[in-house]
Amino acid sequence: MQATKTRENLAALVEGLNFAQKVDRSLALIREAHQEYGDRLVVANSLGKDSVAVWHLARRVSPDIKGFIVTTRFKPAQTVEFMKQEVARYPELRVFKNDAPIPDELYLTDPDRCCDVLKVQPVRWAIEEMNVACWVTGLRCTEGRTRTDYQEIEERDKGLIKLNPILLWHEREVWQYLALNSVPVNPLYAQGYRSLGCAPCTRIASDQNERAGRWVGTSKCGGECGIHTRPLKGESTGAAH
Ligand code: SF4
Repeated sequence: MQATKTRENLAALVEGLNFAQKVDRSLALIREAHQEYGDRLVVANSLGKDSVAVWHLARRVSPDIKGFIVTTRFKPAQTVEFMKQEVARYPELRVFKNDAPIPDELYLTDPDRCCDVLKVQPVRWAIEEMNVACWVTGLRCTEGRTRTDYQEIEERDKGLIKLNPILLWHEREVWQYLALNSVPVNPLYAQGYRSLGCAPCTRIASDQNERAGRWVGTSKCGGECGIHTRPLKGESTGAAH
């Protein structure tokens, strides 16, 4: 498997590969990484459509692959319920959450800090506790302005590989895969959401940008929580979880 190396290469593959070729490519990427990293390959699951697609792909490679979910005190009730259903279906999914006190409405005054405490920190814990050498994400390069510069295989943190096996998929292809494989999804999608996060920071949007409903009205609008941009090793605070 020759992973993508350049932005041009990436764009050509996004448009040049058909759905079945992309599925095969994703499975091959996970299979090769699993052969290399074994138990130290772990799937991150945000409970969004991309994550459940990647989780399904990973289980096709090996039902022994483990995963983790990061949740926060601000997740919508439907997402919490969906999480409980997913964990009941797949007990190999571990849940990480930071219950440390934070200032009221930090998501309004400093959403970057709020995401760092509630989302990025639990990812760091998961990586440390599960002894992860390669984490697998549902990141896609067509999701919006902040997601065009990634690669299928990355090493942003030394000693920690990040695999983005559906990087080349269009939104439509994710839904195609989920429908064809009867994969259950978060019920919030039926209300019109296209990208899901915490309740105070997620709206239904009609913009072309898939992530336009995230952090509306802040400088972070359409942006990132930080798990794909912040360091994930060596910054653990050791707070309760
Ligand atoms: S999405 Fe909003 S509420 Fe959730 S952690 Fe980030 S800033 Fe806080």
